[in-house]
Amino acid sequence: EHLDRIAAVDDRVHAFLHVDTEGALAAAAAVDARIAAGEQLGPLAGVPIAVKDVLATRGVPTTAGSKILEGWRPPYDATLVERLRAAGTVMLGKTNMDEFAMGSSTEYSAYGPTFNPWDLARIPGGSGGGSAAALAAYEAPLSIGTDTGGSIRQPGAVTGTVGAKPTYGGTSRYGLLAFSSSLDTPGPCARTVEDTALLHAVIAGHDPRDSTSIDASVPDVVGAARLGATGDLTGVKVGLVREFSGEGAEPGVMSAFRETVEALTKLGAEVVEVSCPNFVYALPAYYLIAPSECSSNLARYDGVRFGLRVGDDGNRSLEEVMSMTREAGFGPEVKRRIIIGTYALSSGYYDAYYGQAQKVRTLITRDFTTAFEQVDVLVSPTTPFVAFELGSRTSDPYQMYLADLFTIPTNLYGGPAISVPCGLSEGLPVGFQVMAPTLGDDRMYRVAAAVES
Ligand code: GLN
Repeated sequence: EHLDRIAAVDDRVHAFLHVDTEGALAAAAAVDARIAAGEQLGPLAGVPIAVKDVLATRGVPTTAGSKILEGWRPPYDATLVERLRAAGTVMLGKTNMDEFAMGSSTEYSAYGPTFNPWDLARIPGGSGGGSAAALAAYEAPLSIGTDTGGSIRQPGAVTGTVGAKPTYGGTSRYGLLAFSSSLDTPGPCARTVEDTALLHAVIAGHDPRDSTSIDASVPDVVGAARLGATGDLTGVKVGLVREFSGEGAEPGVMSAFRETVEALTKLGAEVVEVSCPNFVYALPAYYLIAPSECSSNLARYDGVRFGLRVGDDGNRSLEEVMSMTREAGFGPEVKRRIIIGTYALSSGYYDAYYGQAQKVRTLITRDFTTAFEQVDVLVSPTTPFVAFELGSRTSDPYQMYLADLFTIPTNLYGGPAISVPCGLSEGLPVGFQVMAPTLGDDRMYRVAAAVES
């Protein structure tokens, strides 16, 4: 049924870069066979899922939204994908995204944009716009995204769906095509908080193949979501970030947010204001750290090892072939990041830019630590504005980066955060963000489920 739905609507939505019809039908048949054999299967067995095209899937095209990987079929599965298969989920295909997960609108995909099912003239967020639009268009009930600076939460917010960024290191990065290794976090997306938690529980947990994977038990996110759904938040302390009190955000977004905070107090939560003075520096710090790491990570796309190779006519030097391949294979935003990152890491500028940004990152982490001594969770709108029109922010990169104003502090800190729908502004969905301390993923699910209730 989901394959039929994709066939009916995806020429308009363009959530998918690749639909794996054969693989999906085979996986579904395998689940049927296991049921017929009387096997006890997990809660997600047979449930269809869409996977962001930045995760390696064995034998299935994986491009990260880039021309430089066109035609590449990975010889292995990402750990996350392995876990999804073991759980019996049925992978429908790979979803569209901004090239190498750099962007907030999916307009930087080398394969054309994804359109927001709420209004096809508007963006579905990014970079994981495909994973969010697939849910909103009922092409898939579950999807996987990755969040380096908000790419799970912001698409969730602008498509009226739920997206969670787990604690950094709580989900494996093995087989995730690296953008910014100290920030990249794969995570679950769905239409409800409980579904998101069920998916979270299947994909999370220690992976010895990822050196930054946390060797600790996964918090009971499903139990927490069910507790929150009862609508009782007695004893929960919720913090409002003073520095996010509305500057730069649309009034309609702020009023939906404030109404939701009001509703939380009615459910028994105690709401207080806390100050996180360094959050205002998060955006500039991120836009040095992420490009710096990207400039290093993307050096591997050299025309020798994977995908595209241009100019190799036997007369050109290796350097010329690499340069021509990268010139042709990378899009404008990826090039901009590589140039910024290379500059920020170069000798003479390293201390002034990268070193300084790392210090700011430490200060932001301290803001979170201090805040979580006073409250259980922090809340804010997920993104300052509702889904904007295609083309309206592509000419000025800074306008695009502003979409990440509220999501990025969490990435620099490493804690979990979730976006849950909290009403409409001008007929378009608004997202409510819940941020929790590192390894406190369960708390964030409890509060998010209460918002939904
Ligand atoms: N918009 C952010 C960026 O462009 C988010 C990226 C992400 O989370 N993958 O870097």
